[in-house]
Amino acid sequence: MPKEIPGIHHVTAIAGEPQQNIEFYADFLGLRLVKLTVNYDDPETYHLYYGDEDGHPGTILTFFPWPGAPGGRKGAGQVTTTSFSIPRDSVRYWVERLGKHEVAFTGPVDRFDEQLISFSDPDGLNLELVAHAGEIRRGWGRGSVPREHAIRGFFGVTLSEEGYEKTSSLLTETMGFKLTKQEGNRFRYAARSGGPGATVDLLCQPDARPGVVSVGTVHHVAWRTPDDGQQKMWREELVEAGLNVTPVIDRKYFHSIYFREPGGVLFEIATDPPGFAIDERKEELGTRLMLPPQFESFREHLVQVLPRVKLPKMA
Ligand code: ZN
Repeated sequence: MPKEIPGIHHVTAIAGEPQQNIEFYADFLGLRLVKLTVNYDDPETYHLYYGDEDGHPGTILTFFPWPGAPGGRKGAGQVTTTSFSIPRDSVRYWVERLGKHEVAFTGPVDRFDEQLISFSDPDGLNLELVAHAGEIRRGWGRGSVPREHAIRGFFGVTLSEEGYEKTSSLLTETMGFKLTKQEGNRFRYAARSGGPGATVDLLCQPDARPGVVSVGTVHHVAWRTPDDGQQKMWREELVEAGLNVTPVIDRKYFHSIYFREPGGVLFEIATDPPGFAIDERKEELGTRLMLPPQFESFREHLVQVLPRVKLPKMA
């Protein structure tokens, strides 16, 4: 079977205060907190996962909150905008909601075949709501936003790059994306399967300063792969293409490999299985601190050092 990347698996960014992050993404944007855990590489830091009801790949935005850390700098070699998908008829609802919650925004404006609204989260992370026809995913119905207007998952990501040729070759010649549209310095690529969550915009910005990862910036973007076998094949092919790829790392809810694309953005390829229901019942996702076995014996210590947070309510 030929291997394929069906689109985005997740996006991981750095936040400031975890409580503020939960209130923005769950209480305001209406995403489900699907997992409350710790950063496996730094367990005194939370790892917050938001998504749809099940935390399907393509809907998962995750954060490492670094309270008190300085703000990062968005720039070249980073994902500089993360775009969510909303139904075509939900633009008015979201314009009103943003206004009511006093979130500064621009738009709606047209771009290619979509309408989009741009704004930032409280830490300065750039977000878009992209309204378009052809969204078939279901929104979560028990969050703070009615199901009909709920965010359906990712529309895509925008990479800012000093140049675009090498990144473009990696996307099209190795990773199976196609160049579908271009306007000015924006090059749009789509995973072969197409559809929402499969879009990458590459912004060619030769004068942009390199980005600095800290609060308010994206740490990495992960692409989907259906299973461990295909991930192994990806690893071999990427190594052959001259990239430095990590070994497979067990992230409990998925298995991951990481590498830096030629423009400097950290890419990950993550498996769809096993998913977030591996250690919690679906109804209870995100309702308590989940730890992998290696940290379970430090639970008491971790609960003491992690900032206390109030979890979102479900309808
Ligand atoms: Zn990741």
